[in-house]
Amino acid sequence: LTIGIPAEQLPGERRIALVPDVAKRFKALGVELLIQRGAEAPACIAADDFKEVSWTDSNDAALANKVILAVQPLSSEQIAKLAPGTVLVSTLQPYQNADRVRQLAERKITAFAMELLPRISRAQSMDILSSQAACSGYQCVLIAASHCTKFFPMMTYAAGTIRPAKVLVIGAGVAGLQAIATARRLGALVEAYDVRPETREQIESLGAKFVDTGVSAAGTGGYARELTEDEKRQQAEKLARAVAQCDALITTAAIPGKRAPQIISADMVAGMKPGAVVVDMAAESGGNVAGCVAGETVVVGPATIVGPTNLPSRMALHASEMYAKNLYNFVSPMIKEGELSIDWEDEVIRGTCLTHDGEVKHEGVKKVLG
Ligand code: NAD
Repeated sequence: LTIGIPAEQLPGERRIALVPDVAKRFKALGVELLIQRGAEAPACIAADDFKEVSWTDSNDAALANKVILAVQPLSSEQIAKLAPGTVLVSTLQPYQNADRVRQLAERKITAFAMELLPRISRAQSMDILSSQAACSGYQCVLIAASHCTKFFPMMTYAAGTIRPAKVLVIGAGVAGLQAIATARRLGALVEAYDVRPETREQIESLGAKFVDTGVSAAGTGGYARELTEDEKRQQAEKLARAVAQCDALITTAAIPGKRAPQIISADMVAGMKPGAVVVDMAAESGGNVAGCVAGETVVVGPATIVGPTNLPSRMALHASEMYAKNLYNFVSPMIKEGELSIDWEDEVIRGTCLTHDGEVKHEGVKKVLG
């Protein structure tokens, strides 16, 4: 069995789906590895650190293997080159690209979309959404701190004391909790809010204050559901005060498979302090903040709004390490005596499978595709 690792094609993507330590573990299972030369460089990994792997200059050659590991979804040209029966393990953004899903099915690719991994305890070590969200939450705070005209920590100097900055985090999932922890490590006073009531305890355990809006929207599978118009109004009224008082606002709210909810209105932005910084982690999926532009930093009234894209790629080495280990934990149970043996009874494998044998297998995606 050979696993191919093509170089990532998306401009700005610096991660790689395999790191030297994980390559060693695959080798120990009796698997061959073929990496496209140069795929390792953007993540600042030395090619020499990969031991006993093969290299190719050709993207086509990297794609001509039984198993393909990737970070970003392959392009339609790349999918067209995969042999039927190829096993693709990658992020595939199934809800954002119906054509790609259909093409994978038509090409008879066994595609595992790592975003679809069931979030059960046993699968935690395979959860790329969590590992990459931790990178994003951390990066959001660093971006906010670098744009802020204030210190995050309290500072005592010869002429007095500077008060710590106030950071507000909206959305306390994996990314939001990491943002809270990072802002706390930098010494900021942190408030946070999420529609799922169970986050109160998690927020408080990190030393932040929970903003109580009285709106609860726990959905299925530990995720949030969309709010009703009344709930949105109530949420906005209660949040407006916290937004007006903060120096940095970090938003991370998302609903799987849907456009990100707009939580911060133009009026709320207009009411922020002069020099306030907003980092909208949901920029790529529609944005939580009015006026946010994905990939840009814009000044709107008193606030600077940053709409970062591909945050994990900014810390490509650790993000790749985390991602590659998640993939190894997902793929390695499918390898028996150096060969691929997929246990279709396994709920983690079934739940992650997007297409197989010419069909779209995932019920949720099928429903959206119609
Ligand atoms: P996510 O990226 O889907 O959303 C981020 C956060 O935004 C969530 O906490 C959500 O509640 C919040 N949100 C949505 N709409 C909002 C609104 N209108 N206002 C404010 N906040 C809003 O979430 P995630 O980080 O992927 O995690 C979601 C849940 O899954 C969490 O409970 C997490 O602990 C759980 N989880 C479980 C496992 C596991 O058991 N294997 C792994 C990872 C995460």
